[in-house]
Amino acid sequence: MTKKLVAGNWKLNGSLAANAELVADIASAPEVALVDCAVCVPYPYLAQLQAMLDGTAVALGAQNVSEFARGAYTGEVSASMLAEFACCYVIVGHSERRALFAEQDEQVGRKAAAALAAGLTPVVCVGETLEERDAGLVMQVIGRQLDAVGSVLDANALSRIVVAYEPVWAIGSGRSASVAQVVEVHEGIRAWLVRHCEAPAGVRILYGGSVKPDNAAELFAAAEVDGGLIGGASLVARDFLAICRAAAIQS
Ligand code: PEP
Repeated sequence: MTKKLVAGNWKLNGSLAANAELVADIASAPEVALVDCAVCVPYPYLAQLQAMLDGTAVALGAQNVSEFARGAYTGEVSASMLAEFACCYVIVGHSERRALFAEQDEQVGRKAAAALAAGLTPVVCVGETLEERDAGLVMQVIGRQLDAVGSVLDANALSRIVVAYEPVWAIGSGRSASVAQVVEVHEGIRAWLVRHCEAPAGVRILYGGSVKPDNAAELFAAAEVDGGLIGGASLVARDFLAICRAAAIQS
C-alpha cells in the first residue's frame, strides 16, 4: 500500500458559493497531492466540482448511488450518470443511509456492484452502534454487513472496493474510536477480506468517525489504517488539509 486515501464526505452541506471557496483552498494545496484525496459531494454540485477539480490532485465522489441502471425509479441517480461527471468514488451503505433511509445490507451490496459496473470505486461503509459494541457484537455486525456485500460481489469485484469502518457512535459525535479499537476492527475486516477477495492486500480499509486534525496523526500512524473518511472536518479547508498532511506523513 502506498499513499493513504483521505476522502471528505460533505453530507447535506454546501452551496455554489461556499463550495467554490472551499475547493479553491483545498485543490491547490500541495498536501492533497501527497495522499490520494477525494471529496464526496451532493449530486447537484457534481458539475461544479468536476470543473473545479479538473487537472487537480483531488478526485470527485458521490455519497450514494442507485442499485438500478435506468428506468422508472423516480429520484434515483445511476452509477453511469455519476461516471459522466468524472466521479471516481461513491460512498455506499453510510450508517446515516442505513438508519434514516432503511438501506439494507444486501442493497448496499447491489449498490457497490452497480458502482463497479460503471467503473467507480465503492466506499463500502460498515460499523456498529454503541448498543452493539456494548453487547460485544462488533465483529458479528460487521461480518454480517460484509457477508451481504460478498453475496453480491465475487472475489475479483471485492478486490476493487474500499471499506470504511465507521462506528456509528463515533460519527459526528466528537468521540473518535481509540486507536486500539480501530486496529482491532481493521484486523477483523482484513481477515474477512483475506477469506473472500482475490487480492485482499490491495483493498484499503479507511477509518471514519470524528477524525480531526488533533487525532488524525495517531490514527493514521497505525499500519492497519489505510486512510480516513472525513465528515465534519472536510468542510473546513484548514482542518481537511491538516488531516491530509497527517496522512501524508504516515504514507
Ligand atoms: C461520516 O459521516 O462519514 C463521518 C466520518 O463524519 P464525522 O467525521 O463528522 O464524524
